[in-house]
Amino acid sequence: MWIYLNSKFVKDEDAVISVFDHGFLYGDGVYETLRSYGPHIFMQDQHLSRLFRSAEAIGLTIPISMKSLADILQEAMIRNEVGTDQRDAYLRITVSRGAGDIGLDPALCSSPTVVVMAKPLVPPASHLYETGVKLIVASTKRNLPSALSPQIKSTNFLNNIQAKREAIVAGAFDSILLNWEQHLTECTISNVFLVLNGTLRTPALECGLLDGITRMIVIQLARELDIHTDEGRYTVDDLFKADECFLTNTSMEIMPVTSVDRRAVGDGKPGPLTLKLREQFPAMRGRYGNRLHTR
Ligand code: PLP
Repeated sequence: MWIYLNSKFVKDEDAVISVFDHGFLYGDGVYETLRSYGPHIFMQDQHLSRLFRSAEAIGLTIPISMKSLADILQEAMIRNEVGTDQRDAYLRITVSRGAGDIGLDPALCSSPTVVVMAKPLVPPASHLYETGVKLIVASTKRNLPSALSPQIKSTNFLNNIQAKREAIVAGAFDSILLNWEQHLTECTISNVFLVLNGTLRTPALECGLLDGITRMIVIQLARELDIHTDEGRYTVDDLFKADECFLTNTSMEIMPVTSVDRRAVGDGKPGPLTLKLREQFPAMRGRYGNRLHTR
């Protein structure tokens, strides 16, 4: 595997960083995961913009322009033979504060570490889209936005990892995290939607969650289909009363949820609105791919 590391592509065995990197020492960094459909990178500009927004929020200057990063993504796909008609790509950009003496002051690190990886995308098993997945409500709360904003896609992922550990122990696909007011926020790597009283609902950004790019596309798609949508404050009770529930993220797209804390959601099967949105999603995503220019 070819990996871009600080201005050049190297083989994975040579892609090593310092033990003094503040990404390693303190989780001081930001990242993005993207995917391609064949050669088209989905919502590339939005992912790159979010990366730069996350970096800005932690006072980290990314030493490469957005345009150069886009070129690096393309080269990473070509070198690793992914992002082809046969093989969709999974792409990850990580930017850490870089290597510096031990201590919290960002000024200790003179040069950020930039890593870009491209490998074959492995989507969730197809049967999960038919059966739906099981969630639990985590006892771990989502980070308080005024402590560490969930809008920052940071390499400090312990909040999500604690909730994921709970899901693994419970034999669930994932956990949904509540906020400081017991309102629903999101799952560990995805946003959550529910259908309640005929309206498609998703927690509002003020509840403390990542502004998911797939979330935004699904809201837009629902509006185009004349489905009533609402971004608001929802509780676990709303989830138990919901007729349908699903998750969204870049690599999973739309994943039905059929049980929460061992209670069936609706009739315990993926619901009609979830299936309709899933069915319409490919047409929508076709409008948002960035074509590779170099071949
Ligand atoms: N929420 C969290 C915590 C995530 O890590 C992710 C994706 O990685 C999402 C939501 C979904 O975001 P997107 O649709 O942009 O992939």
